[in-house]
Amino acid sequence: MNGEALIDVRGLKKHFAVNRGFLSHHAEGTVKAVDGVSFTIYRGETLGLIGESGCGKSTLSRMLIGLSESTEGEIFFRGRKVDKRTINEIRTSMQMVFQDPYSSLDPRMCMRRIVEEPLRIHTHLSRAEKLERILPLVKQLGFSEDDLKKYPHEFSGGQRQRIGIARAFVLGPEFIICDEPVSALDVSIQAQILNLFRELQREKGVTYLFISHDMSVIKHVSDRIAVMYLGRIVELAGKNELFSDTLHPYTKALISSIPIPDPRIHTDMKPLEGELPSPLNPPSGCPFRLRCGKAMDICSSSVPQLREIRKGHYAACHLFDGDAGLC
Ligand code: SF4
Repeated sequence: MNGEALIDVRGLKKHFAVNRGFLSHHAEGTVKAVDGVSFTIYRGETLGLIGESGCGKSTLSRMLIGLSESTEGEIFFRGRKVDKRTINEIRTSMQMVFQDPYSSLDPRMCMRRIVEEPLRIHTHLSRAEKLERILPLVKQLGFSEDDLKKYPHEFSGGQRQRIGIARAFVLGPEFIICDEPVSALDVSIQAQILNLFRELQREKGVTYLFISHDMSVIKHVSDRIAVMYLGRIVELAGKNELFSDTLHPYTKALISSIPIPDPRIHTDMKPLEGELPSPLNPPSGCPFRLRCGKAMDICSSSVPQLREIRKGHYAACHLFDGDAGLC
């Protein structure tokens, strides 16, 4: 990580109008899937993005990579604003590794066609040149040249995810969004794939946004961590700082959910209770207040804003409003 901003996100929102029924044009309400998110991703780092299912992580990632338009806000890539005009120019610099290695690969395509596909779309390389480009990469990922003729069903889950990784890396991108890339894999395979991501990052200098609902996975891969709840970032800090000096009650609950293998170790952190509220009908004030053991009167009337509480450590919680931070 060299301190140069690669991605800059400012006030990004994605709101969906929800209708009463299939034929109705009467809007029942608005789902604020992403609601005013701002952050920076620095070149060469891994920013982990954690939150429960339905908190807006995937919607956010789809906007970043240009698969979905934002309702409001701006995204900058290498200092250039991403819009309809610029997205095609930068598309090859941004790639995605998907969650499910079973459905993200076309079963009718052999491995060679799958990995070469981005080259077919974005370059004019000959067939031989494409093969020359992909061979070192697939070999580095543990495949032989003969494997290129095989189809997805002939590979294990871990191998399929490595094919997805090869496809994401083949154009030499600067930025990769990893959307829950190990959650569909056996635990024994997860560590191999996570280590592979790190190895490729060290070698190629790529920048990751790594999305997961699993705090132990995020802890393993991230340099900094952003915690998302109901469409908002509620805490953002360097990994070590986030774990040693956790500020937000929601982050504390997520950290409590990491199993501790030693029964002699006790922590005062309480695991998360209750469910994520409906984004169609979120609580007033702080979106976390119905599950928060520290909620105060102000929490029901005022939405806490993300503020820098310590250098590089941001939190959105009224516990840290001026002197209220002492309680
Ligand atoms: Fe809990 Fe209030 Fe902080 Fe929200 S703002 S996390 S309800 S203390």
